[in-house]
Amino acid sequence: MRVNCLHCGHAFGLDVSYSDYEGMLRCPTCGGLLDARIEDGLIRSVRLGMLASPPTQAAEPSREPTARHASNLSNEAEHRGAA
Ligand SMILES: [Zn+2]
Repeated sequence: MRVNCLHCGHAFGLDVSYSDYEGMLRCPTCGGLLDARIEDGLIRSVRLGMLASPPTQAAEPSREPTARHASNLSNEAEHRGAA
């Protein structure tokens, strides 16, 4: 029995113990959660699983070290141009 992950699109196999299962599955490829309902070895429905806590990707600091690096480079260019 194989389930297609809705997060990454990869298919992963399920053990026979999941032939009657309703609940969360975790994709071994991307770690995404799937809300699956399986009856008699047939996958009835697979939906995106809801995480208990929201992902923290948006919590990154707004500082951008590359911006400062870029301004240093432009200063150097100005000095060269002046000399
Ligand atoms: Zn996945």
